[in-house]
Amino acid sequence: RSLEDVLAQGIRDIPDYPQPGVLFKDITPLLADHTGFTQVVEALAAFGKDDDGEVVVDKVVGIEARGFILAAPVALALGAGFVPVRKQGKLPAATFAESYALEYGEATIEVHQDAFAPGDRVLVIDDVLATGGTVEACLRLIRRCGAEVVGTAVLIELSFLPGRKRLADERVDALVTV
Ligand code: 5GP
Repeated sequence: RSLEDVLAQGIRDIPDYPQPGVLFKDITPLLADHTGFTQVVEALAAFGKDDDGEVVVDKVVGIEARGFILAAPVALALGAGFVPVRKQGKLPAATFAESYALEYGEATIEVHQDAFAPGDRVLVIDDVLATGGTVEACLRLIRRCGAEVVGTAVLIELSFLPGRKRLADERVDALVTV
């Protein structure tokens, strides 16, 4: 199967979730499909390699919660470490925190202050790029730790939202744009 088919078959639209008017991209069918999941992990891991296939990242960051599911196997595939970026209050040791605006209110994400060695090269993984606020805050966190962002890779980019524009100065790759 082509990656295109895998993504088309494995991602379903759920209307009015989590609130009326939102069409939610549900990736759970894809995760349940072993060969499809494997293909997706390999495709995401490719963004952590250069043109010669050499791994160019030391750490892979997953953004809570669906980002974890994708980033951990990508980290293993690259022979890199995994670092969780979590919602406020979930990480046990000293953290850096960054807040960003939501449609209503604000959200805060955190990372352990000692999650990276100085100069670590980092690939960020999440499932969906929507407004870009989450990824933008995540990149600030990584840079505050003294690590270097190599790029961000997502499964799905929602092109009707301003994520791409907001991250215009960043390297952002998506497996599928809808
Ligand atoms: P943003 O900060 O780019 O607006 O939102 C991205 C975050 O919201 C991601 O962490 C992503 O998991 C979640 N998200 C937003 N819309 C969807 C969606 O339609 N499907 C899924 N699976 N996650 C979404």
